[in-house]
Amino acid sequence: MADSSYLIIGAGCFGASTARALKDAYPTADVVLLDQQPFPAPAAAAHDFNKIIRAEYEDPVYMALALEAREAWAEKDPVVEPFFHQTGVIWPVTQTRAKKLREGYDGLIGEGKAPLQELSFEEAKTKFPVLGGCGLDGDGEAELCVFNPLAGWAEAAGALEAVVRDTLGKGVKYEVATAKRLIFDNEGVCTGVLAEDGRTFTAENVILSAGAYIPWLLAESAPEKPEVQAGDRMVAASALMGLFKVPPGEKGLDKFTNAPIIVHSFGEYPAECIPPGSPGALDLAKCTHELPYTRKVYHEPTKQDISVPPLSQAERMKWTTDLPDALKANSAGARNKLFGDHITGMAPEIYRLCWDVSTPDENWIISPHPAVKNLYITTGGSFHAFKFLPNIGKYVVQMLQGKLSEEHTRKWAWNREITPIVSPYTPRADLRNVPGYHD
Ligand SMILES: Cc1cc2nc3c(=O)[nH]c(=O)nc-3n(C[C@H](O)[C@H](O)[C@H](O)COP(=O)(O)OP(=O)(O)OC[C@H]3O[C@@H](n4cnc5c(N)ncnc54)[C@H](O)[C@@H]3O)c2cc1C
Repeated sequence: MADSSYLIIGAGCFGASTARALKDAYPTADVVLLDQQPFPAPAAAAHDFNKIIRAEYEDPVYMALALEAREAWAEKDPVVEPFFHQTGVIWPVTQTRAKKLREGYDGLIGEGKAPLQELSFEEAKTKFPVLGGCGLDGDGEAELCVFNPLAGWAEAAGALEAVVRDTLGKGVKYEVATAKRLIFDNEGVCTGVLAEDGRTFTAENVILSAGAYIPWLLAESAPEKPEVQAGDRMVAASALMGLFKVPPGEKGLDKFTNAPIIVHSFGEYPAECIPPGSPGALDLAKCTHELPYTRKVYHEPTKQDISVPPLSQAERMKWTTDLPDALKANSAGARNKLFGDHITGMAPEIYRLCWDVSTPDENWIISPHPAVKNLYITTGGSFHAFKFLPNIGKYVVQMLQGKLSEEHTRKWAWNREITPIVSPYTPRADLRNVPGYHD
């Protein structure tokens, strides 16, 4: 493997992390990172104003991975550490979820060592004045708050850029080209990609990390072979983020002093907010409406609907004000739900529909493609994989080496038994049905 060649399609969270881990494992390997845009690619979900770094997963497998990642962000990885801001995160939750989280921590770091504080709604509001206008009980669904002071957020685009730059220092070659379809030899072995501009890129190992474009790319690559296509394994979806300018003063920025991240996934507007504090934009709060939308398009060659971001318009993935009023209203709904009129004058500056790949059980796919030799798939962030930027590539390399643990192999396989779950990140609407939506 050391002298092998690797083509990674997509320089977002999975791709950049994989390139880095590959070079750490095999410094002399020939690694090409190909993306449709120069780095850090603005179309990547990983290219963002900021992202939440937390370890509150009910599944201990992801909690363990998130604790490992958090350690990298907070102290162990000098490449990403400058981009991490520890603010803590507060979640209104049910008693059941609080118990599961505590048990998860107990199992991983020792009985009674969970960094979680349990707070009544009144205690939470006293501790964090920013919560004064927030209906924390989520219309009766939530029972208490849990606060983890060790969580925080990362300057996402900066961290992604730093990771890609680090890979370049290690000898990775970055190519800008849009993959049009995979190419195969006569035996059906994947040998690389054909780009939109007519160039081909080849390698002994092809790692598909193109995020939300993966289902479409696979269908385009092998329209006559359903066994190559994504099928029901994953769906591309987007969620709406809004940046809100918080005015100075008592009813504005002052309320955000020492504010934690808020994740409030209940009610009509399941929402999360990363408080202001980003370097260069100290008064911008990011509110995300937890409602993922598909964008289903009829794919003629395979005669199926496939959800895909606007293909020809990577520009559309950027921050914009050109969105239908219905989506803007949802963003305002998320803000109002979190802050009510307790904070005044929080005006929307700009929005972004951010695209990711959601899997029905929210487990990743980190797997050889069983129907195509030399092709590997890494995806399935399901709206919460950015935090693993420092460590996800390590597991991709283990997969390439055939050294992934039995549990990870089973969880992340292309073909696996899937028990679908419903979470705030489950896609449940289509952009085409939003009044006024246009590509
Ligand atoms: C609204 C929203 C909020 C989120 N919040 C958080 C959070 O707070 N915390 C967290 O941990 N995670 C969060 N996530 C999830 C996280 O961003 C994603 O899970 C993660 O970025 C997925 O990584 P990826 O590599 O699969 O895709 P991406 O990061 O999207 O990267 C894919 C890359 O592939 C490239 N590409 C695509 N098609 C082609 C092609 N044909 N040719 C060449 N290149 C191509 C793209 O340009 C892009 O650079 C959020 C996601 C969204 C959408």
